Amino acid sequence: MEIKSRKGDVIPGPTRRTVLRGAVGTGLVLGAAGMGGGFAPRAAHAGSGSAPPPLGPSQKAVLDSLLEGNARYVSGKRKAHDLEAARKGLTQGQKPKTAVIRCADSRVAPELVFDQSLGELFVCGVAGNIPTAEIMASIEYAVLNLETELILVMGHSSCGAVDAALQHRDGIDALPGNLPGLLSEILPSVLKAQKGGGGTLARCIKQNARDAAGRLSAMSVVVNDAVKAGTVGIASGVYHLDTGRFELSGG
Ligand SMILES: [Zn+2]
Repeated sequence: MEIKSRKGDVIPGPTRRTVLRGAVGTGLVLGAAGMGGGFAPRAAHAGSGSAPPPLGPSQKAVLDSLLEGNARYVSGKRKAHDLEAARKGLTQGQKPKTAVIRCADSRVAPELVFDQSLGELFVCGVAGNIPTAEIMASIEYAVLNLETELILVMGHSSCGAVDAALQHRDGIDALPGNLPGLLSEILPSVLKAQKGGGGTLARCIKQNARDAAGRLSAMSVVVNDAVKAGTVGIASGVYHLDTGRFELSGG
């Protein structure tokens, strides 16, 4: 996969490595991905990072168009997308304005929820919609190559992954397979939600989505640079399975 800067220049390998080495030195990249090796399980994140800055006008327009699409979806008045024409028009490339980090849950379909067509959303999914190293690499590709302006973390009600972290908060390590690694990424948000009182699943889900958004810049030099330059914005929210409404986190 060729890596380009947002200006379209190909970034040579040594420069990228230099960037990563620098990032490790300043603690900007977490885990093995920034240490010059392959991927390895990371220690659970310590917190939510910092809240993303407010969206710029262009990023806000992108988000507004998604929310308008969601309103159409909720009201049952989705556009009649010409998928055949869209498919043919996209054979030479893609320019999705939004990258979505979604849960793997089969009930959460961003293109339907936001009433978007082919080529409009760059969708990355993992149970619990957490920013893993692989998800971040995918997001970085979109930011550098596809003119993506908005990164949207999409939590959802009744999330089984967040619920599992909540239910097994004192025994995650005893769970089978790779689940402990995944759920330990969600656990800090669950604990934080519980500190605030209540600790219901809905609160944990909200906190998890907000924390994921807050961690993106800290996990990626590419994202951090783009956000600082004002070319990319970050938002998060929760999709409600019952009503179909996507509720923004609001800061
Ligand atoms: Zn889920």
